[in-house]
Amino acid sequence: MALDRFGRPLRSLRLSVTDRCNLRCRYCMPEVNYQWLPRPNLLTFEELALVASSFLPLGVTRIRLTGGEPLLRQDLDQLIRMLADLPGVDDLALTTNGVLLADQAQALRDAGLHRVTVSLDTLQAERYQALSRVDGLTKTLAGIRAAQEAGFRRIKLDMVVLAGTNEDEILDMLAFAAENDCEARFIEYMDVGGATRWQPKEVYSRDQILASIREAHGEVHQVEEGEADSPGIAAPARRYRTASGQLFGIIASTTQPFCGDCDRSRVTADGHWFDCLYASKGVDLRQLVRSEDCLVSLEEVLRGHWQARDARGAEKRLELGKRGPQFDLDTLLSDPRLEMHTKGG
Ligand code: SAM
Ligand code: SF4
Repeated sequence: MALDRFGRPLRSLRLSVTDRCNLRCRYCMPEVNYQWLPRPNLLTFEELALVASSFLPLGVTRIRLTGGEPLLRQDLDQLIRMLADLPGVDDLALTTNGVLLADQAQALRDAGLHRVTVSLDTLQAERYQALSRVDGLTKTLAGIRAAQEAGFRRIKLDMVVLAGTNEDEILDMLAFAAENDCEARFIEYMDVGGATRWQPKEVYSRDQILASIREAHGEVHQVEEGEADSPGIAAPARRYRTASGQLFGIIASTTQPFCGDCDRSRVTADGHWFDCLYASKGVDLRQLVRSEDCLVSLEEVLRGHWQARDARGAEKRLELGKRGPQFDLDTLLSDPRLEMHTKGG
């Protein structure tokens, strides 16, 4: 196991399998043109599995595939099969916008994927299109149904709440989650790389989300993790329960950062390792993986870097006081790994 300078373990690894996406969510990819990672630089499935396995001795037990849109990566079920076979992986999950999920859910399940999180910001077709520039709601809803039919349970539905855009759907999303045996999670709009249109007035905070829910449902209680009736994995959300017993989560990285508990890191599809979502520099693992003595050095490099880690990016953003987008467009074009859709959300 490895601990960083603040005593934080490394438990959770997010593997981005592509920087491409079939949506253009305006809080993530608001621009018209993007600088894509060169194809030959993308790690193969064998290389991704090798990287993942090198993290296990450091203490990683949870792996999440993300992107970009991970279901755009061809034959993803083959990678899942390879990762599911790794010893010590307790939790193998996927975050998707769900558009391609209906066709792939059964294959993903059969390959050994444990859990699915679907990003769903609205239940209104026109609003979905306005938010993502694609008419995709029907497909995403079909994807959720197909995932359930394939055997995935307690699917998490992640909704980025934007003030003035979709905060009026918080209660609808809770109701939808209850009707469909899913867990709603409300995410504050973050000023991460890629969010070039971020502005404070569009953040709908955890306190506001809770107030909206209390107004309709009465008192809401925070749930302590490990409680017998709090199933599954909550991190990085805090979980709450309504008076009628419905569980939901809130990820308040913008107004209530949780850096002190952060046990995660991210690898881009071209093998750059970031120890914080807000980090502006990663470690080039691809170079190591493609070198001859990689097996010796990979684990050593990971351990050394993690032990030196003092990242607390979200807290530092909060300390700034006056906030705006983390990077300007020119910076993102010159280093696309700073984009949320490349780093892996
Ligand atoms: N394409 C997949 C999806 O949308 O689920 C996976 C990648 S996406 C980058 C992962 C998550 O990051 C999504 O739930 C998305 O809503 C979230 N995200 C992207 N930009 C964000 C931002 N500026 N603030 C908060 N969440 C954001
Ligand atoms: Fe939307 Fe996910 Fe694509 Fe970003 S990566 S534009 S959040 S679907």
